[in-house]
Amino acid sequence: MKYRYSAWIVALLLLISGCNSDSKTAIEPPVERGQGDNTSTDKDGADTDNSDKDNSNSDDSNSENTNSNNSTKETKEEVIKRILSAQGAENITSLALKDFEIAEFGCVTAANLSVIQGYFNTTQDELQLTTLRDRLCKVVELFELDNKSLLTPSMLKDVGLRGLFFQDGTLDQWAYDELILTIPERNFEYAALQEAVEDFHHNQSSVWPKQINISFDDGGALNSIYEHLDLFDKYNATFTYYVSHYSTIDHEKVADIEDRGHEIGHHGVIHRHAKIYSEENGVQKWITDDITPQLDAMRRDGLTVTSYAYPFGAYTKETDREIKKYFTHVRKFASWSSVVYRGERSDRPITTGLSIDSHRFDLDKIRNAIDTLKGGETLYLATHVIGKTGNEWYITPENLEKVLAYASAKGLKFCHTSECMNFKGNANN
Ligand SMILES: [Zn+2]
Repeated sequence: MKYRYSAWIVALLLLISGCNSDSKTAIEPPVERGQGDNTSTDKDGADTDNSDKDNSNSDDSNSENTNSNNSTKETKEEVIKRILSAQGAENITSLALKDFEIAEFGCVTAANLSVIQGYFNTTQDELQLTTLRDRLCKVVELFELDNKSLLTPSMLKDVGLRGLFFQDGTLDQWAYDELILTIPERNFEYAALQEAVEDFHHNQSSVWPKQINISFDDGGALNSIYEHLDLFDKYNATFTYYVSHYSTIDHEKVADIEDRGHEIGHHGVIHRHAKIYSEENGVQKWITDDITPQLDAMRRDGLTVTSYAYPFGAYTKETDREIKKYFTHVRKFASWSSVVYRGERSDRPITTGLSIDSHRFDLDKIRNAIDTLKGGETLYLATHVIGKTGNEWYITPENLEKVLAYASAKGLKFCHTSECMNFKGNANN
């Protein structure tokens, strides 16, 4: 229902603004979410764990659970497909033992089924059949260890635990020691281990940097960003510019922005609505039409592009799954009127940019978010053009400077998305 509502708003907005999806460098207004989302966001604001923020729009997670009771009618291939697609899903408790038996996952038994389900819920990996079988056996091996002195770093690497190893693959000895200290003596559940590692990072507030990532969207924002580069230099600040309509804008200016120390990201060939387009044409068609042509062109031009922002902030679980194959970081967008400004854990590959466009700009709320940011967290703020435009999707240079000045005065580290995620590498800076 939510999606249908969003789709109507998009259609309406496009109609009102008189622009079609092919219009060259038009600034296309992001979708605002329905009232129901506002409510849940407000509720989220009350707690300190924002891990659920990027799930707020995925109400389609139940669709693949509906098969669970008639799996006898499915072929083995269909069951395998369902198991593979359950990786990283929010709720897969309906994957039954029978499913794993049909798919011949030998290691999965009644005794460890809940551990395996915990793995599916928690993992961010997307493994193919053979690798997944192997991985699940390793997860079971961990669970069956009867003494934590037997738990080695390589076993933890084998199950794909995030946050325990640096980017070059070396062990984070401190995180490992903390993990060994905090876990029980036996029966190591993947999900609990992952949670322990994340808690460790989250609690190192005096050590990990407090970070901020400011981003600007749309090909049409190029000139305004280009004209204000000195403003960022003044505060030693960097940003991410998510480019759409790359073929129609000035490539030299884009390259200049990267050369000046900022990050260039991807925002769609012609700013297609990922949810509507992928549901009408398939996820692969969305990738080949709105992702790969521009990504290839940008990389051919020597740009380093590792991050993507969804146009209109629109996505589905399937687009999330697919887009992660092309980028290490994905940014969503929140622009409801009651948006709660706050940081996210820095190791999250999918984050939400909080709108600081003119009609949402609230300096007190932004300052409060900066004041309450913890180490190991990143505040993602997103907007479009710098300077007044004919619509509300802009920030004035004065307001932008207020944000830069405050973040800078409070010692926040401005990060590119890859740096934001690799926050432990920033700790010594
Ligand atoms: Zn956009």
